[in-house]
Amino acid sequence: MEKRELLVKGKAKSMYATDDPGCVVMHFRDDTSAFDGKKVEQLERKGRVNNIFNAFIMETLAAAGIPTHFVKRIDDRDSLVRRMTMIPVECVVRNIAAGSICRRLGIAEGTVLEPQTFELFYKNDALGDPMINESHIAAFKWASLEDVATARELTFKVNDVLKKLFLDHGMLLVDYKLEFGNCDGHVLLGDEFTPDGCRIWDAETREKLDKDRFRQSLGNVVESYELVGRRLGLNFD
Ligand code: UDP
Repeated sequence: MEKRELLVKGKAKSMYATDDPGCVVMHFRDDTSAFDGKKVEQLERKGRVNNIFNAFIMETLAAAGIPTHFVKRIDDRDSLVRRMTMIPVECVVRNIAAGSICRRLGIAEGTVLEPQTFELFYKNDALGDPMINESHIAAFKWASLEDVATARELTFKVNDVLKKLFLDHGMLLVDYKLEFGNCDGHVLLGDEFTPDGCRIWDAETREKLDKDRFRQSLGNVVESYELVGRRLGLNFD
């Protein structure tokens, strides 16, 4: 496999073409952003930690029967993934209230959400990723409603697998964001699953171990990501 030209530079990752038209390289950078790109910093080692973390989670999900774009980790910062047509929608599941739901609905952080909530956001930085529902996706032809139903079903399946995985290792999966794409007529989980796109708390102390450490300037951001990974059995040496 040969890595070729840069295709897209996102906020934390860059995508490169390869000599295989069906695959692209996902490169994890150290850039860390929050508040729609208003706060940006380079956090040493983060790209490498997230690449290793993401590979482990994607392989865990695939083993549980969830179709993903992930093919393999290539090296420290690169992974090979299937090329997809991305659905421009973020699927968010919340098990415990934190972040935007607290601001929007006046809910106290830490409130257990039973059953868990499911929300859709339109991926558009200029508009600040507004919340939408299925009717917007249909009206603006962002995806078929069948594909959205599949994405929703897979998002809940991910919750069953990962809520248990984190709890078994002393952590709470508070919430997370997933993105999906279409590849050869199949809906696959795309993008990444790392502490940049989810909230994870220590089950005992409720200490934040995710990107909220960066958003709220709590320090030890990458160290906390590594701690989560090590608890899951990963080695970042
Ligand atoms: N999230 C994300 N990218 C976004 C928006 C949210 O990865 O563009 C993740 C975020 O890290 C959290 C979950 O989705 O785990 C819910 O985020 P929320 O709606 O609470 O937004 P925030 O508080 O981050 O503004």
